[in-house]
Amino acid sequence: MKLLNKLATATVASVMIAGGLLGSVQTTYASGQKSTSEDAQKTSDVVYMGNTENPKNVIFLVGDGMGPSYNAAYRYFADNPETKEMEQTAFDKYHVGSQRTNPNDSKENVTDSAAGATAFSSGHKTYNGAIGVDADKNKVKTVLEQAKENGKSTGLVSTAEITDATPAAYASHVDSRDKKNEIAKQFYNDKINGEHKVDVLLGGGAAYFGKDNDNLKNKFKKDGYDVVTNKNEMQNSKSKQILGLFADNNMPLQIDAPDKNPTLVDMTDNAISKLKGNDKGFFLMVEGASIDKAGHPNDITGVMSEMEGFEKAFEYATNYAKHNPDTLVVATADHSTGGLSIAKGEDYVWNPDSIHKMKHSGKYMTEEIEKGKNVEKVINKGYGFAISKNQMDDIKEEAKKLKDFKKDKDKYEAQLQKVQDAVQKPINDKSHTGWTTTGHTGEDVNTYAYGPGSEKFKGNIDNIDNAKNIFDIFQSDVK
Ligand SMILES: [Zn+2]
Repeated sequence: MKLLNKLATATVASVMIAGGLLGSVQTTYASGQKSTSEDAQKTSDVVYMGNTENPKNVIFLVGDGMGPSYNAAYRYFADNPETKEMEQTAFDKYHVGSQRTNPNDSKENVTDSAAGATAFSSGHKTYNGAIGVDADKNKVKTVLEQAKENGKSTGLVSTAEITDATPAAYASHVDSRDKKNEIAKQFYNDKINGEHKVDVLLGGGAAYFGKDNDNLKNKFKKDGYDVVTNKNEMQNSKSKQILGLFADNNMPLQIDAPDKNPTLVDMTDNAISKLKGNDKGFFLMVEGASIDKAGHPNDITGVMSEMEGFEKAFEYATNYAKHNPDTLVVATADHSTGGLSIAKGEDYVWNPDSIHKMKHSGKYMTEEIEKGKNVEKVINKGYGFAISKNQMDDIKEEAKKLKDFKKDKDKYEAQLQKVQDAVQKPINDKSHTGWTTTGHTGEDVNTYAYGPGSEKFKGNIDNIDNAKNIFDIFQSDVK
């Protein structure tokens, strides 16, 4: 791992030189020496060809809830304990700046994922809950729609329901993120130049494509999409258009997921394989959605599992861009979640080793307990270390109270969070992980970018600049 990191760092340096100084000159740099492009490809070095300012492919990755403390915590988590130095993550090498996340909302000044994604997709600040509409509820054009107008192929990938806020804001326009049936209908019904807007849809959310919602699944199938429900079917799919629905709602966290499920990198790989055949290029949005979904209930095991999955997807995308130099890769977050803190209490220590020992997320154990399974068995199976008798008793006590709130949904949910807090207390304590909220927080988030056009994302930018930059790139498509 150490060696790989060093190689990749050298590669970035060559890209900076080639991109910055030489512009569109057809040149290959392999460790500072000129060579033929064939040689370079053999050694996996970077080749810049053609129009380097305006990439024809854009892969935009959103780590939902991935605030800067998530990236730093993941660096500790991914560190090789056998070396003295702390290795860089796949993200670190491509860190180009930060971005502001505040929404345009009369009541709240910390964003949700809907307003964040609408900023990314359209270049408009809007209110929390808005999907592809501005603060006055007017439809706003998205970069995915622009890509389709330009004749490119398009894709949306997420570990959440594919109708969830982030993917929804690229290909639908509704005044509330809760209108998931309507979002799914728009995915099917809204066409650009007679074609469906999105060629590749991979994620959860089967609940919104079945009998209860116009049998959208079947309609997509009739129109030539492969409709798949597991990794095997996805990988055997031949059509260039695909609807993959791998869970009724959100996909399970990677640490808990059955083998038949594709991971985020599996889905990213499949999406790119389908989109890349188009001469005019493609736009692909990939969301690591469950970073946020694990952050809300303060589930550090779930968070690290999803960060790992998102890093693999990002690494895959940057590797693709290295071999396909007309590709820009950008990764960022819409906001941070939970107020994650790397150490708590008095000690100057954060201990990721204890998280590595975990077998299941806090979410998984809580759901098992909610189903009525034996608390001790669930905890002993999910934890990789022994917890104290007091901690176990606390979990049992909170779990027992659940039945008192069966009739009141809000109180039940609040009690369920108390169960989850008790389930996670031993790992949060042992790892010294602190949290301040079960909601979002407003700090600036990191931007990572690689490939032609990446210089547009440098420095401290605003979340709407992501869309503005991508529109710039697409509007100057000269074909
Ligand atoms: Zn959230």
